[in-house]
Amino acid sequence: MTQTNSSPTEAALAELRTDFTGRVIGPADPDYAEARTVFNAMIDRSPGAIAQCETVRDVVGAVRFARERGLEIAVRGGGHGVAGKALTDGGLVVDLRRMNGVVVDPGARTVRVGGGATMGHLDRAVQTHGLATTGGRVSTTGVGGFVLGGGSGWLERKFGLACDNLLAVELVTADGEAVRAAGDENPELFWALHGGGGNFGVATSLTLRLHPLSAMTLALLLWEPGAGPEVVRAFRDFVATAPDEVGGAVLYLTAPPEPFVPEPLVGRLACAVLLTYAGDEETGRGVLRPMLGLGHVGGMVTGLPYADLQSMLDDPPGYRNHWSAEYLEDFPDQAVELFCSGADRMVVPSPSQHVLFPQGGAVARSGADYPVPWRRAPWAVHPLGLWADPADDDRAREWARAVRDDMRPWSTGDVYLNFIGDEGEQRVAAGFGADNHRRLAAVKSRYDPDNVFHLNHNIKPG
Ligand SMILES: Cc1cc2nc3c(=O)[nH]c(=O)nc-3n(C[C@H](O)[C@H](O)[C@H](O)COP(=O)(O)OP(=O)(O)OC[C@H]3O[C@@H](n4cnc5c(N)ncnc54)[C@H](O)[C@@H]3O)c2cc1C
Repeated sequence: MTQTNSSPTEAALAELRTDFTGRVIGPADPDYAEARTVFNAMIDRSPGAIAQCETVRDVVGAVRFARERGLEIAVRGGGHGVAGKALTDGGLVVDLRRMNGVVVDPGARTVRVGGGATMGHLDRAVQTHGLATTGGRVSTTGVGGFVLGGGSGWLERKFGLACDNLLAVELVTADGEAVRAAGDENPELFWALHGGGGNFGVATSLTLRLHPLSAMTLALLLWEPGAGPEVVRAFRDFVATAPDEVGGAVLYLTAPPEPFVPEPLVGRLACAVLLTYAGDEETGRGVLRPMLGLGHVGGMVTGLPYADLQSMLDDPPGYRNHWSAEYLEDFPDQAVELFCSGADRMVVPSPSQHVLFPQGGAVARSGADYPVPWRRAPWAVHPLGLWADPADDDRAREWARAVRDDMRPWSTGDVYLNFIGDEGEQRVAAGFGADNHRRLAAVKSRYDPDNVFHLNHNIKPG
């Protein structure tokens, strides 16, 4: 049946509720407003109902219910996708947040998480065993959307992208069938789930490889923005020869009111370097010495548990968001100057960040043929706009567009779709590369020929 934006009737919802372990929320329920809120405050959609699933059976029931009635389906994990595709107007949201269980197998060094678990659920559970895997850079991101889109984080140069650590996915398909994908089971589907996002079904669980990680070191160093070009060049040259244990970023940001920030900088634009070292503080200080000696005006260096690092940058929800990204094959001095001057147009003060990420290490070395071609780029520039006042909407969008324009001479043309909003079909295709896109479209034809799961960075059935 063709999908429409119509809403299920109260009678239909009563039918869905009869055999449902979780909770089905309709527009008249008091928690409807909370249930339809996502991270990006620009997204204001009113689903016909929100099925907060608790079991795989709930997910199967919700998908079949929607399909039988031709209702549009949205799939919600952590609600962090800035494009806001986790919600639909009318239709049915398959909300996975109650499916957040984490089962660690320390002996096998694996973890199996529910499709609605956040990075915080995962990191805290595995840390007690001295283990970790590549996660996003905040604790509130959904593991599902993050890993299925590729997954980039502080540990990636050591342990690879999050999808490189994906061992198995349990999925409910568009037909409402529960299937498993792993290296030896539905291997083509398994390949597609390494970057292809939510196109192929609802992931009810993901199993990931873990690695020993007993200690973590963080350095957060601040400068006046005018020092930016010198700092960025030094960061670029440092990372070029740094060991895989080093992760990090240059971030132009509004300096927060923290004890390690000099008073005159608080509330103003600052140039920050965040460095992580996957190891103890003493060794970390030694490895990071070239950057620590660069004359920062504020900052801190500390050893800390990995899960604490992961929640340190948790952005407050409720802001308006517009993000983009450009992946670069080179970052010469001219690009450094343009990157730094791009910060001048940012909405400040705000939680916005103008970010330069280094890749390399295990990210670049992987021989896997997954549909994440952006992994080969050594640099990513990521304008990440968060602001409060709708009057700044145009300015924030224009800033992200201008940053991309500035970086285009060095762009590989690759796109990491988790880092952008809705930028059209060409950018989606560029997210995978032409050959991968064709192969993904063939997998889509097999598992979702009617494009039931189209509220995502959509791959049309080939
Ligand atoms: C504050 C913040 C920080 C971030 N930091 C990073 C970072 O460091 N590195 C990085 O790589 N990304 C980062 N992201 C981007 C993030 O990885 C993507 O937005 C990701 O899609 C979020 O997943 P989610 O489940 O939270 O979002 P949702 O909005 O719930 O989901 C986004 C889409 O993913 C799909 N999806 C989600 N869960 C499932 C599932 N279980 N089964 C099938 N499909 C599913 C759906 O298509 C959905 O539309 C960040 C985002 C935010 C808001």
